[in-house]
Amino acid sequence: MTEIKKIKIAAFAVLLMLLCASTAFAKINLAYPESVGLGEPFLVRITSDSGLESVSIKWKGTEVKPEIRNWKGRSVALAMFGTDVLVDKTGKSKLSITVVEDGKERRLGRSVRVKKKKYKVQRLSLPENMVTPPKDVLDKIAQDRVEVAAAKETMSAERKWFVPFTRPTKGSQSSPYGAQRILNGKPRNPHRGLDFRGAEGAEITAIADGRVVLVGDHYYAGNCIYLDHGNGVVTMYFHLSRIDVKEGEIVERGQVIGGIGSTGRVTGPHLHMSVSVQGRLVDPTYVLYRNTDQLLGIK
Ligand SMILES: [Zn+2]
Repeated sequence: MTEIKKIKIAAFAVLLMLLCASTAFAKINLAYPESVGLGEPFLVRITSDSGLESVSIKWKGTEVKPEIRNWKGRSVALAMFGTDVLVDKTGKSKLSITVVEDGKERRLGRSVRVKKKKYKVQRLSLPENMVTPPKDVLDKIAQDRVEVAAAKETMSAERKWFVPFTRPTKGSQSSPYGAQRILNGKPRNPHRGLDFRGAEGAEITAIADGRVVLVGDHYYAGNCIYLDHGNGVVTMYFHLSRIDVKEGEIVERGQVIGGIGSTGRVTGPHLHMSVSVQGRLVDPTYVLYRNTDQLLGIK
């Protein structure tokens, strides 16, 4: 074999390898928003023409392994992430993605910019005994926190949610997410949920299919329910007058789970609802009123 022939064969082999590699890589399609506001949830979607074997996405130290589904002959993995107005900062954050396809592992590094967002300021006046809990309930509050932390960390493998979620009650919205609270003249933590008006006993429904992970009677939240919707998404319902479900029960989107009430540290009947995404409390309006494309940043 002549030198020229050898070079030609080598060049052809390299070209073939490049071609194979590029077609293998071209199969994956990645969608995510380049920027989001502080406190907003967002979606990341990985689509492939061939079978995705596993997908892992890391965001702010938490890893999610989204459920992989087949849709029109393609593999699709959809995951929800977000930032919490209380604990997170603005700026760029890394999305570290690992995909296994046809036995090959591929790593993709992307980033999402978290932008500053203006939230309402709310001045409230409450009797002093409602602001500072009495000493004899401090142990109870600490125990409530342990239960809540465990419920919020639930990471089940099956994704039972899709956006938009269903509103939890018929009543109109009152206090929005992110509202900066000044209580009796002192700044407090921002409001990390969404409030709904409603009469005592009015029906509260599950906003997505899920499983009841916690039913509690907490000092601040009163009668409360935590639902796990899969892949790190948990919703919370506070101040209930009654609870119609049991821990471990499977619930369907729209199913009545309880009634609006005024249990816990409140001044009147209303529903406080929170959405936890891997433990971060995000603005519920984004999952209630936006579709997949909007949360992926697709215009
Ligand atoms: Zn509230």
